[in-house]
Amino acid sequence: MFDTLSDRLSGIFTKLRGKGRLTDADIDATAREIRMALLEADVALPVVKSFVAALKERARGAEVSQALNPAQQIIKIVHEELIGILGGESRRLQFAKQPPTVIMLAGLQGSGKTTLAGKLARWLKAQGHQPLLVACDLQRPNAVNQLQVLGKRVDVEVFAPQPGNGVGDPVSVARESIEHAKRTMRDIVIVDTAGRLGIDTEMMAQAAAIRDAVNPDEVIFVIDAMVGQDAVATAEAFRDGVGISGVVLSKLDGDARGGAALSVRHVTGQPILFASTGEKMEDFDVFHPDRMASRILGMGDVLTLIEQAEAAFDDQQKEKMTSKLLGGEQFTLEDFLEQLTAIRRMGPIANMLSMMPGMGQMKDQLAELDDKHFDRVAAIIRSMTPAERANSKLINGSRRLRIANGAGVTVMDVNQLLNRFVDAQKMMKQMGGAMGLPGGRRKAT
Ligand code: GDP
Repeated sequence: MFDTLSDRLSGIFTKLRGKGRLTDADIDATAREIRMALLEADVALPVVKSFVAALKERARGAEVSQALNPAQQIIKIVHEELIGILGGESRRLQFAKQPPTVIMLAGLQGSGKTTLAGKLARWLKAQGHQPLLVACDLQRPNAVNQLQVLGKRVDVEVFAPQPGNGVGDPVSVARESIEHAKRTMRDIVIVDTAGRLGIDTEMMAQAAAIRDAVNPDEVIFVIDAMVGQDAVATAEAFRDGVGISGVVLSKLDGDARGGAALSVRHVTGQPILFASTGEKMEDFDVFHPDRMASRILGMGDVLTLIEQAEAAFDDQQKEKMTSKLLGGEQFTLEDFLEQLTAIRRMGPIANMLSMMPGMGQMKDQLAELDDKHFDRVAAIIRSMTPAERANSKLINGSRRLRIANGAGVTVMDVNQLLNRFVDAQKMMKQMGGAMGLPGGRRKAT
């Protein structure tokens, strides 16, 4: 599903790996590539535009997390924006206060309405409902028969026109089906309607007449995920001609590029309720925007890593660090140790690295080294007195020897750490300055 888009995005993220910081030019270049990837996936232009605008704004904005590297930050933003265009949260079916709940299906011929009717009936029945299927597709030869076969398969009654009685009039079949449902204590009525191969005023008028006859609680627009951009015109026509309350994406098991799926929510303004993923009655599930976004990114592991990193580098710590820097305070060895500990809390570096795309193979060589290194640095800082941690300038030659002995390392190791720490401290100071507080509010250091 959406393989080409996934590959393109992952290629874009790979280019960002190893960058220490993203310049505006980096962000622009990334945004341009993501724009191309979305357009090639046949996503509608207005959707692409708003996606890219949000991406740029967020990537440049102050929200960028200190816990994540630039590639992770971009992945996180793209992930969240994808969830957004897919509708954010899942939305459940709306049930009538007074049964029966009426669900009307609309869409082009071949979009998968009749198949969906069977799937939906099976799914609702499994939840303890008593659905009734109604065959109002009297246009397509065999549609009534197809629904009857599906009804048998999922063991749900099908209401269909009786020969010689109202044949050819889907509106009266629909109307009668509601009476029948009430008489037989069915709590949900699923009305399958006729589609055409293209948008057609007669079809739209018929769908609207059925809608008026049954007063549905949900009008579900079924769209074939394989159709791409064309989905936009069709969705708009159904939105305006019948009015829809929800969408089902069908044929997501196919080789869809993603255009329909990523555009339909924006175009209709209505949520995607279900996903249909095959010809079998079980190939069907509630639509989860977050899961779909993760699948499109094809990097579930990296997303987990991002969550872990953010959790480890918790808000409290972030705030403390920010206010320290803003206040012009020194970044101390104690702070350094705290950061190291936060990183270590995320689990062995080996695991973190193995979650990065392409790093799996090098895991063993890199990991041991890095874990040991982290632990050694932590041990050195722990061998210092609180006064030394607060002010590294105190640490003269004899103190260095004491610390080295305490941590079980050489004096050279201590020297190395202190040199690197002084560099980090300088950088932190610059960052604090860059945040632009008036000099008067700074504490003397
Ligand atoms: P309708 O004209 O809208 O009622 O469409 P149908 O339900 O008859 O579906 C048209 C074709 O698509 C049939 O051959 C179905 O078996 C097939 N189909 C429907 N839903 C799916 C799906 O989710 N995945 C796949 N692969 N095929 C589907």
